[in-house]
Amino acid sequence: MSDDSKEQPAKGTGAQPKGRAQKDTPPAKSAAAKKHARAQSGGVLRGLAAVDEVLRQPTVAALCERYPRALVVDAVRAVLDRLRREILEQKAEQAAGDLSAAMLAPWVEALLIAAVTPSLRRVINASGVVVHTNLGRSVLPVEALEAIVIAAASYSDLEFDLGAGERASRQDHVHDVLCTLTGAEDALVVNNNAAAVLLALAATSRGGDVLVSRGQLVEIGDSFRIPDILVESGAALVEVGTTNRTYLKDYERAWSERARAVLRVHTSNYRIVGFTSEPPVGELAQFAHEHGGVLVDNLGSGALADLDLFADEPSVGESIAAGADVVTFSGDKLLGGPQAGIAVGSAAAIGAMRRHPLARAVRIDKLDLAALDALLRLYLDPARAIERIPTLAMLAAPEDALQARAARLRDALTGVGASAEQKALCLAADDVAILASVARAGAGALPITEVPSIAVAVAPPGGDAEGLAARLRRGEPGVVGRVHEDHVLFDMRTVRDDEVAELAACVLVAIG
Ligand SMILES: *Cc1c(COP(=O)(O)O)cnc(C)c1O
Repeated sequence: MSDDSKEQPAKGTGAQPKGRAQKDTPPAKSAAAKKHARAQSGGVLRGLAAVDEVLRQPTVAALCERYPRALVVDAVRAVLDRLRREILEQKAEQAAGDLSAAMLAPWVEALLIAAVTPSLRRVINASGVVVHTNLGRSVLPVEALEAIVIAAASYSDLEFDLGAGERASRQDHVHDVLCTLTGAEDALVVNNNAAAVLLALAATSRGGDVLVSRGQLVEIGDSFRIPDILVESGAALVEVGTTNRTYLKDYERAWSERARAVLRVHTSNYRIVGFTSEPPVGELAQFAHEHGGVLVDNLGSGALADLDLFADEPSVGESIAAGADVVTFSGDKLLGGPQAGIAVGSAAAIGAMRRHPLARAVRIDKLDLAALDALLRLYLDPARAIERIPTLAMLAAPEDALQARAARLRDALTGVGASAEQKALCLAADDVAILASVARAGAGALPITEVPSIAVAVAPPGGDAEGLAARLRRGEPGVVGRVHEDHVLFDMRTVRDDEVAELAACVLVAIG
């Protein structure tokens, strides 16, 4: 199964006084102490200041000059609500005096700062999971970033033909390059692959049946389930064959005059091994066409690059050449681009998708389109694509490059070449080791492929590896590593060379 959804970066909602509960929570209490505390909480509650009273405090009143008054009032209410709850839950042990209006100002200010600070934070991904869904999947190449800035900062010819002075389609920007790269007749990009599958089924099969092998009824991520998507598309699911073996004759038996399509789904986040059988894509396409239906092939990751690692991933071009009517894949998995769903295939099937009313609801936004446009051009030169596209470069990085990166991190952590003064802030040589590690493609792609990697293992002086990992996640930038026994591991496959010095500083701060 995909392992990329377990690790969650620490994140505040901005609506609660962060960290207060932990700091003020007293150690476990005896039953007698609890009873005493309960009897006291009524008194403590009465001592809690009223909203107006807090707002009149000079320090809080001063906040009203820097922040909109309504925001300050909300923050005061949130602090008082939180305190009230904690008192009732016997958490806040303060005497009434400690809860005076004057004491609340710093908490109110902390909430205000959190409220006006954008929530999304940068993270150094030292997890070794390259396409980590919870950390934003793919990091974009510089070419795509530049395209995003232009599209975001200026007006553009997004849906305008500058030559003719007429309205045009945003799809025009990526249509031809997608057809060139995949050999398809037609192409359409939407918001994400889930939307591409939904639209393909709605456009080809609404009101009819769709045949799916029992071995391919997958759930991807937390809520993309093939049976549910079929319901939403207005088509009925007909399960075919068995979990491990499905033959063409099973499809023959299940086909009826209601049937419109065969849906093939790449089991991107798991593998069925042992005695298995699925008809090749070419046979499925031929079967569907002989019966007047279509073959929709959901490939998931859509590995367009020519990496050894992708040898067993189904290829978009092969699927098109084998006769699939629609092939769908994600923009931000192994393609290494922005969030997008890409559908390529026959003019008839893609045209039906383009004309379907849902197409507008799942339209790709202009920033993603700009990034995808730039990204796809890189694929026209396959060697350059691997160098320039971070997802591919990370997966392809040779082990000696990772070794060198690991050595730089170890040296920075242990203060090699640093002054005696700086060295005092560093880790002892014994606390830092370089080890062989296993990285993963992530995002459910290549689920059983272990990508050999190198990690730097840090043994925190106090022995609390979980504590160190937690402090690192909450740092600025956040750092996400892996805890293994008494160590925090930093996998070098997902850390960029230009992040090594910063990563070392984050670790030393979190330890210090
Ligand atoms: C990832 C995946 C999806 C969903 O793609 P998104 O781009 O995340 O919407 C659908 N099907 C398969 C087989 C996948 O691997």
